[in-house]
Amino acid sequence: MRNESVVQVRGLVKRYGTRTAVDGLDLDVRAGTVTAVLGPNGAGKTTTVETCEGYRRADAGTVRVLGLDPVADAARLRPRIGVMLQSGGVYSGARADEMLRHMARLHAHPLDVDALIERLGLGSCGRTTYRRLSGGQQQRLALALAVVGRPELVFLDEPTAGLDPQARRSTWELIRELRADGVTTVLTTHFMDEAEELADDVAIIDAGRTVAQGSPEELCRGGAENTLRFTGRPGLDLGSLLKALPDGTAAAEPVPGAYRISGTVDPQLLATVTSWCAQHGVMPDGIAVERHTLEDVFLELTGKELRS
Ligand code: ATP
Repeated sequence: MRNESVVQVRGLVKRYGTRTAVDGLDLDVRAGTVTAVLGPNGAGKTTTVETCEGYRRADAGTVRVLGLDPVADAARLRPRIGVMLQSGGVYSGARADEMLRHMARLHAHPLDVDALIERLGLGSCGRTTYRRLSGGQQQRLALALAVVGRPELVFLDEPTAGLDPQARRSTWELIRELRADGVTTVLTTHFMDEAEELADDVAIIDAGRTVAQGSPEELCRGGAENTLRFTGRPGLDLGSLLKALPDGTAAAEPVPGAYRISGTVDPQLLATVTSWCAQHGVMPDGIAVERHTLEDVFLELTGKELRS
């Protein structure tokens, strides 16, 4: 079940006038997983997600969602998906609890509305109209509206942007509960910790294309160099150590007796370093491999310059 693709995007192109927002993008979302879509501002994430939701028509390429065409099969698809937009999409004059209960009644097997209100800390805002809610409360209500119908697939566009830490945690908890319930989630976010916490798969989008997709572990292992650290006798002959290591490896002693080896740190490199130490009568203490974070990989793939 988990390997079945519920969203399949191939060669998606979307233009706004002369601007190409999405430029031949591929994306796969496996059933029952959380897939985080990451990318710099303007990378094309929202456009891609909105095309999957059927709100935008592709200029080229194919998009299948739950086996359906999001535009041609919209009437069949809509009841099966939940959508939380970045902003708007909620009638501003309606009361929070009215809206949720109304939305729940439209679905055959909705979630328990009171439990959802409680989970998202919306208990005190039930009688308040949407327009009078705070930004964070509006955000949480939009999330509740997206999931109350117990959709098979839910699209969440930056669901925790602007939320306080408590609301962020309860949103994460809700997303985990949805996954435990078999719901597939597509989540766009700028928070790397959110992707690391929640995502089974991460797709990194840049300039309208997918530049990497895989589990956070795969991306962190494959995309970037790692660092090996150990301490030992000060003043080791790093030139001699480097001769034993593959080309492209760097070695430094930033503080006397503290050593840092940077490069592709794999089991072979670890074995070479320890064996060199053994040959030179060095006991490498506190030996540790530091893996790069998702943020390191993200910046490596998408660059460090600010996007316009
Ligand atoms: P962000 O992280 O800032 O939300 P994003 O990755 O979601 O960005 P999109 O909103 O998909 O990016 O935008 C991709 C590009 O398309 C941007 O250059 C944006 O200015 C442009 N764009 C998006 N919507 C429209 C529109 N309705 N008309 C014209 N250009 C648009």
